[in-house]
Amino acid sequence: MPEDTSAIIAQYRVTCICPTCPTYNECMRADDQRLFCVQGRSPTCTFDKKGCLCPTCPVARALQLKKSYYCIRGSEQEQK
Ligand code: SF4
Ligand code: SF4
Repeated sequence: MPEDTSAIIAQYRVTCICPTCPTYNECMRADDQRLFCVQGRSPTCTFDKKGCLCPTCPVARALQLKKSYYCIRGSEQEQK
């Protein structure tokens, strides 16, 4: 991955609001998992759907994302 892409991903990870989402749980928090819209669903955790904040996320706005529950359903690309 080119260095500038890594820097952008790192910035998006910081901006990702998943940790404030009601669906976000201790399993995801333990690994600091986030940015599921780009990096795909959680590889290890299971969830109860309690709402998804993705539609209000600045990353979703920046990348013009339209889907939700990326942590469960996979990345925007995988949901096409
Ligand atoms: S759209 Fe969802 S998964 Fe993607 S960065 Fe925002 S809160 Fe995280
Ligand atoms: S992808 Fe959506 S449902 Fe999953 S933790 Fe992030 S904001 Fe919540």
